Amino acid sequence: MTIYQNLIAGEWTGADAVENINPSDTKEVVGLYASGSAADTKNAIAAAKAAFPAWSRSGIWERHVILKKAGDEIMARKDELGALLAREEGKTLPEAIGETIRASQIFEFFAGEALRLAGEVVPSVRPNIGVEITREPLGVIGIITPWNFPIAIPAWKIAPALCYGNTVVFKPAELVPGCSWAIVDILNRAGLPKGVLNLVMGKGSVVGQTMLDSPDLAGITFTGSVGTGKRVAVSSIEHNRKIQLEMGGKNPMVILDDADLNVAVEAAANSAFFSTGQRCTASSRLIVTEGIHDRFVAAMTEKLKSLNVDHALKTGTHIGPVVDERQLKTDIDYIEIGRQEGAKLAFGGELISRDTPGFYLQPALFTEATNQMRISREEIFGPVASVIRVKDYDEALAVANDTPFGLSSGIATTSLKHATHFKRNAEAGMVMVNLPTAGVDFHVPFGGRKGSSYGSREQGKYAAEFFTVVKTAYTLA
Ligand code: ADP
Repeated sequence: MTIYQNLIAGEWTGADAVENINPSDTKEVVGLYASGSAADTKNAIAAAKAAFPAWSRSGIWERHVILKKAGDEIMARKDELGALLAREEGKTLPEAIGETIRASQIFEFFAGEALRLAGEVVPSVRPNIGVEITREPLGVIGIITPWNFPIAIPAWKIAPALCYGNTVVFKPAELVPGCSWAIVDILNRAGLPKGVLNLVMGKGSVVGQTMLDSPDLAGITFTGSVGTGKRVAVSSIEHNRKIQLEMGGKNPMVILDDADLNVAVEAAANSAFFSTGQRCTASSRLIVTEGIHDRFVAAMTEKLKSLNVDHALKTGTHIGPVVDERQLKTDIDYIEIGRQEGAKLAFGGELISRDTPGFYLQPALFTEATNQMRISREEIFGPVASVIRVKDYDEALAVANDTPFGLSSGIATTSLKHATHFKRNAEAGMVMVNLPTAGVDFHVPFGGRKGSSYGSREQGKYAAEFFTVVKTAYTLA
């Protein structure tokens, strides 16, 4: 089997490889992918540092053309790349193709942004002096990504990094190197100069840690767990390094008595269980007022019965497998914790077998949960959700906000008054009305508050905040 290698200083390299396993069929090896060393990582950082002066001064047309080419190729290969994504991560083929399209759109967006770089010219408070405010590239950026969006998250970090003139050392998650390799290959062939984008696949404790320890990374953009995010933060203070962290969520979805029941069930089922619940924007707390509670639980249970859990590539699959054995164990442990805490398992939660050996788990819905239970406070990152019964809107809002996290927050209601109040008072970076808590556009800011995020927003124009530094220049006229 060929080894998909790391790209360091424009050369494909690396003989040590690990198997990329399909969670829908653990007999299938998706490919062999290089596992980089600390020395590889240091070489990649050195290459990015050497490439920075020229790339940071490259023309905006050159950047536009490369990003546009990459976006076009990803779109042209959406079915093939979507299938690769579904095979390595386990989300369903339609979800995987959707994510691939989104990655393409992100490259197209930042191809356009490259041409729209602008600053401000303002008068000084002193006579005969002019002031210019411009944005310059930050430097060498470390990009560390998780396994749950194998193509979209790398795209939404790599595209703005390159657009604004930075060079990159990119370390994807161990479980899903395939899509990352593919987009780096695409960008490399699209004409990036050597060393501008370096790919180092491998272990977090080796490749990731070497990046954290390096004084040469001017910024690290990270998406992953709270624990690793904290390590990124602590190590970065020492190096005076800019950081952008997207970590966990424990997103609430409020369902009020006046909700359209179908809208509420569709939004809640999607939020909690699609993509196997493996989204940081997934909703695992369904906060339901008492007048609609029993009808909602009955309708959710019916909906869950209609969802097929099966091989990600199979037509008709609604929910793919859990990503790996470790995550499956976490999910099962939390289901047991929920039971012991006194929540009632209203549906699912059991392992199921299918034609192929995979990590198949029936989505689990708890009822009679409280917001103080561990299943309501800790991020599980699987197809496990709890219904928390509340008296009225005021209690629902208070429970929704009573969490260490603050990424996304949703409400199902037909009341303009409650929708408006919720939008203003939800302690979250993103608020959804009559929509799932997950599922966002690519051209507007993404990010959270409290324990979910740190640093400036990702995506859209707001990405410039992280990937550039501002310069203020004064000239005597
Ligand atoms: P998860 O539990 O979802 O895998 P992690 O935070 O462990 O979340 O992983 C997110 C990313 O962080 C992955 O690419 C992983 O390899 C990387 N990572 C893990 N440990 C470290 C570390 N010590 N330093 C830097 N990156 C790390």
